[in-house]
Amino acid sequence: MLAGAGPGDDALVTAASLRWLARCDTVVYDRLANPALLEAASGSAERIYVGKAPGRSGYSQEQINELLVEKCRAGRRVVRLKGGDPLVFGRGGEEADALRAAGCEFRFVPGVTAGVAGLAYAGIPLTDRRLASTAAFITGHEDPAKDESTIAWDALAKIDTLVFYMGVGNLPQIAERLIAAGRSPATPAAVIYRATTPDQRTVTATLAEIAAVAMEADIRPPALIVVGEVVSLRERLNWWETLPLFAQTVLVTRSRAQASRLSAALRELGAGVIESPTIRIEPPADLGPLEAALRRVGEFDWLVLTSPNGVAAVLDRLDALGLDGRALGGVKIAAVGAATAATLAERFIKADLVPAEFTTDALASALTSAGPLTGKRMLLARADIAPPALAEALTVAGAKLDEVVAYRTVRPDSLGEDAGAALKDRRVDWITFTSSSTVENFLALAGELDLSGVKLAAIGPVTAATLQAAGLTPTVVAQTHTIDALVEAMAAFGA
Ligand code: SAH
Repeated sequence: MLAGAGPGDDALVTAASLRWLARCDTVVYDRLANPALLEAASGSAERIYVGKAPGRSGYSQEQINELLVEKCRAGRRVVRLKGGDPLVFGRGGEEADALRAAGCEFRFVPGVTAGVAGLAYAGIPLTDRRLASTAAFITGHEDPAKDESTIAWDALAKIDTLVFYMGVGNLPQIAERLIAAGRSPATPAAVIYRATTPDQRTVTATLAEIAAVAMEADIRPPALIVVGEVVSLRERLNWWETLPLFAQTVLVTRSRAQASRLSAALRELGAGVIESPTIRIEPPADLGPLEAALRRVGEFDWLVLTSPNGVAAVLDRLDALGLDGRALGGVKIAAVGAATAATLAERFIKADLVPAEFTTDALASALTSAGPLTGKRMLLARADIAPPALAEALTVAGAKLDEVVAYRTVRPDSLGEDAGAALKDRRVDWITFTSSSTVENFLALAGELDLSGVKLAAIGPVTAATLQAAGLTPTVVAQTHTIDALVEAMAAFGA
């Protein structure tokens, strides 16, 4: 499988590439393929990096061809993952030839090429009825073995939009050749560095001046060079680099399983996300009480679930006991928070009661307004570290309450390499906190690291209070206790 990884933003990979990744045994990838995509490969798949590393030259093309053939002969399903599209300046044709010659089957899985997506993210339409009817992709770095340029500069000078890949090092010569071939020196031009990522940088100038301007801005590879009138549209259509969280580095401290939705929402607003899970969810040390309660769950009037983790813990444990949703048949369910209710809904259970606010008082008063709680048998399935207030409120309201620990929250050993390094280098703009325990665990793991100047985002008043108790001031607090509201609050601040 010669598959495209897209230009950088991991959301720009094709569904086909993801499907092949999920079923492969081996991934062979290089520098321009976003490493986040490796997570889409099955956990057991071997991952082989064949790109250049600092100080090492990496695999030669022959070595890559041999590797692909060897893996294919060993009966492995191989995905050769390449930045952008495998057949656009990607040597996919040569690799396919090697595989074919060895009798190996192959497929091409197209990707979104940088020369298309990178322009879009710079706000430059590749073609435009008003300004450009023709476009060309050109390598700016011809095979060094060739003596003479095989590029027909005279013909190119007449094409409306020119997109050069691998051209940064040769930018002065490219501009000179085009002008010598008759292109106006006043033609708008752009250089786009690390397009479609939070590191994207774009410079624009006339064709005559673009080389000097790019040099001045210290633009390095990978970058695209664009020449043509369409570049002038960027003035109005630049959108990615103007998003409210563009180029901001955000540390996400949720548990790994829960981080992805928050991370995706932040990335859509241009942020660079570093996940630093400060919580690991584990089953309770003693499963006895939870299992005993679930075996007789049908005897309760109410089951109270206070988080998506609680929902998963209870339903997974029911499943492990050989039971299913029918065990909950006559039991009313109260879900604290929209996310808890949504997790229930994913498992075909509609919560009978979802208090509008994520507070103990709100839940207690919602429950009592649904009818008196006197004598009602209630099962509260909670985290090991849940504060006692909810249980107390329910007992005071007259309920006969059973409390069980459904899951434990465990603090990992460290913040993780990326997060630690980013904090030390003071590259972090924001840290998100989605519960008090993310605050407490983060601070315990961060130790002496300096957080001054870092913006802090809290999901609600309780989490904000925990920050304040630690002497930190939350920069924003979400209006409602949801991921969307948290991201919205950060975006509003950023704008
Ligand atoms: N097969 C890839 C291109 C590989 S050649 C594709 O279809 O996109 C490598 C060149 O692609 C780089 O030198 C640069 O010019 C361009 N390129 C790839 N990704 C890029 C990115 N995110 N931003 C800017 N240029 C990029």
